Amino acid sequence: MAIIETKGLKKYFDSVKAVDGIDLAINEGEMLVILGPSGCGKTTLMRMIAGLEKPTEGEIYIDGVEVTQLPPRNRDISMVFQSYALYPHMTVYNNIAFPLKAKKLSKKYIKEKVEWAAKILGIGELLERKPRHLSGGERQRVALCRAMVKEPKILLLDEPLSNLDAKLRATARDELQQFQRQLGITTVFVTHDQIEAMGLGDRIVVMNHGKVRQIGSPEEIYHNSNDTFVATFLGSPGINLIERNNYLVGFRPENFLPREVVKQKKGLNKFPLRVSRVEHLGADRLVYGETDDEKGVTKVIAKLPSSITVLVESGKKYDFVVQEQHMRYFDDQSGIRLKVKP
Ligand code: ATP
Repeated sequence: MAIIETKGLKKYFDSVKAVDGIDLAINEGEMLVILGPSGCGKTTLMRMIAGLEKPTEGEIYIDGVEVTQLPPRNRDISMVFQSYALYPHMTVYNNIAFPLKAKKLSKKYIKEKVEWAAKILGIGELLERKPRHLSGGERQRVALCRAMVKEPKILLLDEPLSNLDAKLRATARDELQQFQRQLGITTVFVTHDQIEAMGLGDRIVVMNHGKVRQIGSPEEIYHNSNDTFVATFLGSPGINLIERNNYLVGFRPENFLPREVVKQKKGLNKFPLRVSRVEHLGADRLVYGETDDEKGVTKVIAKLPSSITVLVESGKKYDFVVQEQHMRYFDDQSGIRLKVKP
C-alpha cells in the first residue's frame, strides 16, 4: 500500500516551475531515491511532503489521509536537510536526545536510543562534544542520528551525506540502509549523485525541470531508460549516443568491446574506433575515441574490465562491437526510447 501519495503536485515560484505536476505513490517501508540535477525541484518536492512548503496545486496523502493543508507536526515525518541545524550550546548527546526528551521518555530509554544511533553512525566517541568541535561530516551524522532516534513513520533525507568524504559516505550509506531495512521506515532520499541513488534505492525517481522522467528499480532505469535524459544521467561514463537518419542509437561503455574478444559472430553492431586516449583505472580501462556517424564523427567511450587484456593504444584504429541485446534506440527529436529497432 502507498504510504505517501502525491497527485498533480505543483509548486511555482512566480515564473519558476520548481515542481510541475508530480504523481507519486511511495510504498510502505521502501527506500525511494529522488535523483536529478541541481535545481530540478527535489528539495521543493520534499519540503511539500514534509509540510514546509504549500503546494500551488495538487494534493498529498499520508496513509490515505489528505494532509495537503496540515502543518509538519501532524505528519509523523522526520526530515534531515543538507544544511541541518544543531543546537550549538548542547552536547552531541543532548542534540540527539532532544526529540526524545521533548516526548518525556525515560532517561534509560533515551540513553539506549542515543547510544544505539550513535553507534550505527560511528559517532559514539563524540557524544560529549559540542557541535563547533565537530567536522561537517560529523555534524551531518549527528543530525541523522537525531532523526533516527525518533523512529518516525517517514524519514525524508535531503542529501544527508553530502559533507562526508567518499569512504565515510559509502560506510554511512551502508549503515543507513541497514537501519532503514531493520526498522522498515519509509524513507525518501534526495541526491544528485547517481551512484548513491543506484546503491541505495529500492526505486529511483529521476526528475528534471520539475517533472518525473522515470520511476523504476535501479536496473530498470539503467538498462531500460525511458529517454536520452535518463540514459545520459545514469552511468559513469554515461551512455554513448550515435546519430542515424531520424533516430539515435545508444549503448553503454561496458558493452562496447573490441571485436576480437566477442566470440559471437551474428547480431553484432560494428563501430570502427579511432582511439585518442586510454585511462587505466585499476579495475577498468577507459578507452576514449571517435567513431563515424551519418553526420560526421562522434566521441565515444569504452569501459574494458581488467580481465580484457588486448592491446588498445591511442592513435590507432580498432574494430569495436556492441551485441544487439545491448543496443537502445531513441527518437532523435523527443529523445524518447523506441521500443523496436527502427
Ligand atoms: P539542488 O540539488 O541544487 O538542491 P533541487 O533539485 O533541490 O536543487 P529546488 O531547490 O527544489 O531544486 O529548486 C527548484 C527550482 O526552484 C530552482 O530553480 C530554484 O531556484 C527554485 N526555487 C526554490 N526555492 C525557491 C524560492 N523560495 N523562491 C524562488 N525560487 C525558488
